[in-house]
Amino acid sequence: MQFHQLGLTPALVQALDRAGYKTPTPVQQQAIGPALAGRDVLGCAQTGTGKTAAFALPILQRLGARAPGPGVRPVRALILTPTRELAAQVADSFRTYGHFMRLATAVIFGGVPERPQIDALRRGVDIVVATPGRLLDLMNQGHARLGSVEVLVLDEADRMLDMGFLPDMRRIIARVPAKRQTLLFSATLPREIRDLAHGLLVNPVSVSVAAESAAADTVEQCVYFVEREGKQALLARLLDASAVTRALVFTRTKHRADRVARALTKAGTRAEAIHGNKSQGQRMRALRNFETGETRVLVASDIASRGLDITDVSHVFNFDLPNEPETYVHRIGRTGRAGASGLAVSFCDHEERAYLRTIERLIGRRIPVAGGMRDEAPAPSRPASKPASGRTRSQPPWQPPPRQQPPRQKSSRRLHARRDDERRPGGPWRQPRNR
Ligand code: AMP
Repeated sequence: MQFHQLGLTPALVQALDRAGYKTPTPVQQQAIGPALAGRDVLGCAQTGTGKTAAFALPILQRLGARAPGPGVRPVRALILTPTRELAAQVADSFRTYGHFMRLATAVIFGGVPERPQIDALRRGVDIVVATPGRLLDLMNQGHARLGSVEVLVLDEADRMLDMGFLPDMRRIIARVPAKRQTLLFSATLPREIRDLAHGLLVNPVSVSVAAESAAADTVEQCVYFVEREGKQALLARLLDASAVTRALVFTRTKHRADRVARALTKAGTRAEAIHGNKSQGQRMRALRNFETGETRVLVASDIASRGLDITDVSHVFNFDLPNEPETYVHRIGRTGRAGASGLAVSFCDHEERAYLRTIERLIGRRIPVAGGMRDEAPAPSRPASKPASGRTRSQPPWQPPPRQQPPRQKSSRRLHARRDDERRPGGPWRQPRNR
């Protein structure tokens, strides 16, 4: 299938050609037609599937078809995203796809001065891509008016809920006209998202391209069993391999991201850390350096595991395993994108073995061992449990493998909820959602 077969205008097809897109991805094939027809869409797709174009192209076509009236351009499309990085990337995508159109896009997020954002709104923009907190601030100050919004997109809705943005989202949506088109994209569809969708979408078309474990099915993976103290040396050794051209290293905490990046730099590897304690400028700079190849290794806390669109990441290293298995899938989805091959390498220390088990349960198979000894009970397969293949010390083979969740230290949802993305008194990080 070709883009023009989806009913897109020549201006958009030409821009896609210019961006090097040859054929629509599955989510684009499924969503663009109904969205162009004005239908609401409930999309189950994660970053990396091409979901941004799936909603951006129909929006651009709709807005381009009807010029705004005289005077300052009103905001006609609003895209809410959970993080600044994702907001910036989505806005860039709108500019790329709208290259041959005369539509203006503004991006609004916290952590940077308000003034340029207020000025952009005052000059008039057609499309606003925003994180909820700062947008609500600007709305409350009277700078952002949403009374002309025709299309509302909730992007990575599950992550917005995880980060405690639901109250802000509701306040924003209450100021958007009820007569609108609504597109909701989410990597997962837990009950809370389905409830939200039920309240917001009218007779939506459901599109789904990625089971949670999609990336896990395409990215080559391995695990090293290593003690905590040995991880840094192992990472340095593996990074020495010439095949590692561009590596993302994930740690559990911001502090550890800084420490790992410092140790790598000291050992002569060009590395930088990116996490929520860095200023927006530092984060953007780190991303730019990574993209240009100035730094070969980007060490990230989970803030970067979603939403980052960095192509050609040759390796993802899970320096620490995440305590939520979905996070593992999101992390490793940073490599092997757009058909490129990628390798995800995980380090698993003694305390992380329970995390590994739930990850393997989610992806439905054992991750091959590249070093060290696996001495734990094997994980059952998904969806039906296969018989355990290995005898273990603690688990005789005739017993079912343990079903309990791994020990939850701090819920990563809570960590996200406390992120400093939106620093406002009474902001969502103060009241992490009860699960
Ligand atoms: P997204 O899931 O929207 O973040 O997109 C992931 C990556 O795929 C981005 O780098 C896009 O530029 C790229 N992409 C999206 N659609 C296509 C396509 N049809 N052909 C090639 N690349 C694409």
